[in-house]
Amino acid sequence: MQLPEYVYEILQKLNNNGYEAYCVGGCVRDYLLGQCPEDYDVTTSALPEQIIEVFDGYRLLTVGLKHGTVTVIINKHPVEITTYRIDGEYIDHRHPSKVGFTPNLADDLARRDLTINAIAYNDKVGMVDLYGGAEDLKNGIIRCVGDPMKRFDEDGLRILRALRFASRYGFSIDKATSDAIHRQKFLLSFISAERINSELCGILTGDCYDILRNYSDVICEIIPEMYPCIGFEQHSKYHNKTVYGHIVATVAAAEPTVEARLTMLLHDIGKPDSFFMKDGAGHFYGHADVSCKIAEKILERLRFSNKIKDEVLFLIENHGIVINDDIRSIRRGVARYGAERFLKLIKVHYYDTCGKSPAYFGEKALFDSIEKHTREFLQNEPPMSLKQLKVNGSDISRLGFTGKEIGKALNFLLEQVVNGNCKNDKDSLLALIENNYL
Ligand code: ATP
Ligand code: MG
Repeated sequence: MQLPEYVYEILQKLNNNGYEAYCVGGCVRDYLLGQCPEDYDVTTSALPEQIIEVFDGYRLLTVGLKHGTVTVIINKHPVEITTYRIDGEYIDHRHPSKVGFTPNLADDLARRDLTINAIAYNDKVGMVDLYGGAEDLKNGIIRCVGDPMKRFDEDGLRILRALRFASRYGFSIDKATSDAIHRQKFLLSFISAERINSELCGILTGDCYDILRNYSDVICEIIPEMYPCIGFEQHSKYHNKTVYGHIVATVAAAEPTVEARLTMLLHDIGKPDSFFMKDGAGHFYGHADVSCKIAEKILERLRFSNKIKDEVLFLIENHGIVINDDIRSIRRGVARYGAERFLKLIKVHYYDTCGKSPAYFGEKALFDSIEKHTREFLQNEPPMSLKQLKVNGSDISRLGFTGKEIGKALNFLLEQVVNGNCKNDKDSLLALIENNYL
């Protein structure tokens, strides 16, 4: 393994002072996967105060000191150096009651979560891989270090970490680890919303199709509102899958961003609740509003930012719009939703069709074409806004409109102009309003 010069310097300095030191965890894993490690963690036999002594004169951060971690800033890179650790008894299924230090690398590796995260390396000794992590990486397997039932009982977050790494690399999960995930999923109730948020985002933005399908029970543990969707049949001419099956297919079709994937995960969550709103053709209507309300609660509970929440809720609320590849439809969409959001809705609409019956599958080419025409439209013809309309609020109020009615009337006129139903001149607009409202 070729280490960057600054990491080499850290290992060497610890070594020269009589301590063992290895790179460990994510950086070794990423290297073995042929990826360039983003950051390097170092594990060492030196105690925290000895680390501080060795790196006297360097810029140090000591916020992690009680867990045995000193961060050295070297050539502008922060490197976390942690003393070989043994975790004491775990309390609350999340945190060890105390952190103990040990002179043995093997003890430190034994406390790590997954075999692929428990490999250490330095250039004197080479790889130290006591749990077959390299083999698991080669075969694409996620496996706990030690007894999975016990490891999850100690720290429930590991359940989500296992799923996140499986999703990130498209790995499968070893049987004993997988069984333990299903059996111990209730431990997720001990995990903070912020941690669930970040692990869920990690799971969703990876190769998550199999994870979402095979661990729907875990998803329901963190999003109980999803329960009714599991196994909920919605056979119609549009659908040949359960609601959850459809949801998973649309998530997998979406681009791997948190916004797009969360939108698809939650876009139909209210369908079972709105079942009675089915029309004669077996199509659901009204479910977007119900889904939106449920999604809002979930996003708040899981502490998503207002920015994500607003966009996701907007996309869910409007995911049912019909979009055609003609200029009138495009013009209307841009006027109504704004260019950026309209472009997002086109995509959401496409992802949604990817989860439907084959006859209703989205043709990628069609949606690409709508997107292309929308972009052309935006270049050639800037979208109309209320400002550009040839009547304004006072013109309307002169006709006797007051309060909110004025805005409503103006928006009605804008839509008519955008749709080509009315010319944008004052007389035509006033005539239209008189014919329709007065
Ligand atoms: P990433 O690329 O996501 O940062 P990473 O492996 O570096 O991956 P970290 O969360 O930074 O992940 O943790 C560093 C190492 O600490 C892991 O590789 C693993 O060995 C260990 N670790 C982290 N969290 C836990 C945990 N909850 N239980 C046991 N070991 C853990
Ligand atoms: Mg890391």
